[in-house]
Amino acid sequence: MHISVIGTGYVGLVTGACFAEFGVNVVCMDTDSRRIAKLEKGEVPFYEPGITELVAKGLRENRLAFTTDIAKAVDQALVLFIAVGTPSRADGSADLSYVEEVGRGIAKNMNGYKVIATKSTVPVGTGEKLREVIKANLSGPYRFDIVSNPEFLREGSAIEDFLRPNRVVIGADSDQAIAIMKDLYRPLYLIETPFVVTDIPTAEMIKYASNAFLATKISFINEIANLCERVGADVQVVAKGMGLDHRIGSKFLHAGPGFGGSCFPKDLAALVQTGERVGYQLEIASAAARVNTQQRQRMVEKIRGALGGVKGKTLGLLGLSFKPNTNDLREAPALAIAQQLMKEGAVIRAYDPAALDEGSKLLPGLVPCKDAYDTAEGSDALIIMTEWNQFRNLDFDRLKTALRRPLLIDLRNVYDPARIAGFGFHYVSVGRPDREPRLSS
Ligand code: NAD
Repeated sequence: MHISVIGTGYVGLVTGACFAEFGVNVVCMDTDSRRIAKLEKGEVPFYEPGITELVAKGLRENRLAFTTDIAKAVDQALVLFIAVGTPSRADGSADLSYVEEVGRGIAKNMNGYKVIATKSTVPVGTGEKLREVIKANLSGPYRFDIVSNPEFLREGSAIEDFLRPNRVVIGADSDQAIAIMKDLYRPLYLIETPFVVTDIPTAEMIKYASNAFLATKISFINEIANLCERVGADVQVVAKGMGLDHRIGSKFLHAGPGFGGSCFPKDLAALVQTGERVGYQLEIASAAARVNTQQRQRMVEKIRGALGGVKGKTLGLLGLSFKPNTNDLREAPALAIAQQLMKEGAVIRAYDPAALDEGSKLLPGLVPCKDAYDTAEGSDALIIMTEWNQFRNLDFDRLKTALRRPLLIDLRNVYDPARIAGFGFHYVSVGRPDREPRLSS
């Protein structure tokens, strides 16, 4: 089968490379000619474990090709995936202009029956809108079907998530399109991946409801963490005690600086806006977004409190990306927090294994460092912003020598408080009592 993926970002490239791995012939198209030129040489424009190898394999075995030409992408493809961005507009609604532009491009180049499947996260009603856009621009009397096939991959484990998903959601109103989609995903059928086959609006809603629920779990545990701090409880143990209940589950119950990334904040906003559009106020999703914004501010207050003010202080930040194993800085809590600290007169030294170059561009004045120890050099505190594995086993004797004072602010609760206090550090974390240094005799 021949397919195309329009939009070759995180989702589009992973989708294309993974379908090529399934033995399908894939053309990935993007309007960004620099991105496509790099990809043609096997250079992946972002950090994601395993993707470079998969792209190289697809190119080598001639199952993966790249183009900037929409006509080439439409030509032989039976299924056209749309994986362009759907960023937030000022009112929180999803900007569908890229999706619609792709719809027009596909329509003008149609040469036979096609399945047009949205992988982009799009609000309920977009499938119908897309159908109208394509109908209005069709190059001839060609039949086509619209499918909603939302993507649930997580950056940092995108390939594993694509190749072994918890479920595949297919929203369609045509048996032919459903049969084609099932055929395409047959390798996942063979490993008994559950398929949810439904109508288009329901499939579109599944994606938003899932993301809003996960975001709510994070905001919920962050509120509990803030309460724990005030009553002397330990949120880490509270979350463990909650998570062992199978009805709750342990995932997404980690207290910290709040969620970021390209999806949760924008998808929550779009869901709330969908509610407003139809006259229904989504109280829980709105509160989850509000708590998340406040949490960043709380982290600034925590840092300020631990240092007795940040003006004139030097702060060493470990991690900038919104989570480990990605260089994605979109809506990263570390950026917002660092920006505020700089505004208050702090000097920021920082290290991130993958996002340092981009982070330095976004935060002019930031001092880029070569590792955790360089970051600690002359800093008044070391702050863990993102829980990259390499920050999980630091040499505290070395850090203590490098730091101006032994203060670790662990915004991801990576470490055991008693252990760090034992190294002679003042230890501050989220939702757990602060620890004074405890020097062993
Ligand atoms: P991205 O910004 O990494 O990639 C989007 C790509 O689309 C860019 O390369 C851009 O140049 C290209 N593009 C824009 N207009 C185009 C056009 N008219 N024709 C061809 N290409 C065009 O975005 P992403 O993170 O891959 O997200 C894409 C969609 O998938 C969004 O709706 C997002 O919400 C959703 N999603 C993202 C993730 C994730 O973890 N990133 C997970 C699930 C779903």
